[in-house]
Amino acid sequence: MTVDIGEKLTPLPYRIAVLPGDGIGPEVTNEAVRLLHTVSSLDPALSFEVETLPWNAEYYLERGRMMPPDGLEILREFDAVFLGAVGDKRVPDHVALRQLIFAIRQGFDQYVNLRPVRLLRGAETPLNSKTTSDIDMIFVRENSEGEYSGVGTIDFAGTENEVANQTSIFSRRGVERVIRFAFELARSQQRPLQSISKGNALNYSGVLWDTIFDEVRQNYLDVPSENLLVDAAAYHMVKTPERFGVVVASNLFGDILTDLGAALAGGLGFAASANLCPSREFPSMFEPVHGSAPDIAGRHMANPMASFWAVGMMMTDLGYPDWEQRILDAIEVVLEAPTPRTPDLGGTSTTTQVTDAVIRALESRWGASH
Ligand code: ATP
Repeated sequence: MTVDIGEKLTPLPYRIAVLPGDGIGPEVTNEAVRLLHTVSSLDPALSFEVETLPWNAEYYLERGRMMPPDGLEILREFDAVFLGAVGDKRVPDHVALRQLIFAIRQGFDQYVNLRPVRLLRGAETPLNSKTTSDIDMIFVRENSEGEYSGVGTIDFAGTENEVANQTSIFSRRGVERVIRFAFELARSQQRPLQSISKGNALNYSGVLWDTIFDEVRQNYLDVPSENLLVDAAAYHMVKTPERFGVVVASNLFGDILTDLGAALAGGLGFAASANLCPSREFPSMFEPVHGSAPDIAGRHMANPMASFWAVGMMMTDLGYPDWEQRILDAIEVVLEAPTPRTPDLGGTSTTTQVTDAVIRALESRWGASH
């Protein structure tokens, strides 16, 4: 992305909207933005214009909403959105989620939630016999409908006959497009694909999911694929994680299994995700998976690695996958050294000290002399 101004080509800045959110969200986001600026200082082809939008719990308490009424129109002008974490005990979780995160995911048709589950070199897994080559899968979680569609009723509220009806929406179009996306990813990465469902018990949504999976797989017979029940998938992820490649799952099943994956890959301090709008009609959104972690907020203890990986995923989406790899390499260089480490990894270092080390690793490998 360059503009010709006569003599030399100057990169046009990518416009990044940053939503730091609450708790440790702003702490890890500040460090992620530092990393982003490091990348642009190391690559003459890249520059970023970062705009911070204060849409968080404070904003809600002052204005009664999580973002302005034209929030999506404002975000639409950006090339990507970077989110820290949302969550504050003064605002009901479901309000913050629905009014901000779900509003963006659904409003921008970000129907793919991509979540790598990969054990980095130097990170610790609770599975003693497994190594980095065993724990390396990527989840494609349906992100726009399914169990999180938000449709339902409460009947006879407050009485002893009270009934909650929570409706899952599985549309043919919604299921087919996410399974197709996963097959394309598996084909491009030459990996096997697992489809997760519960067709034996969910006799409507599960059966439709499996039916569509069988239809779509006919177009991808070169990709080894299998269908696993969600309970069996949880078991196999622990016993034989090496079996998994690209994993496609509904909103709820993907949510649960990716947290299991985060535990296998070293903890929430490493888990990153991308909410992708594959048509590119709207910007995609990148975020660390962890929440606002109020127990450690303001204490300079947050592990920033997940937010760095989210920056890496954003670089891939903008067309620079080499930079994702370089960021991951720098994280691994730091993890392989005994320090610095944040307290969640058994160390005593601060968020900023870890960031400094990752930036140093990037600069020493990709700085001017290379
Ligand atoms: P919510 O998801 O509702 O915002 P939360 O922030 O309490 O809630 P999680 O993100 O699941 O929940 O985090 C659980 C705990 O894990 C946190 O309270 C914190 O102790 C720890 N934790 C999460 N993220 C990090 C991080 N980046 N660095 C260090 N510890 C973390």
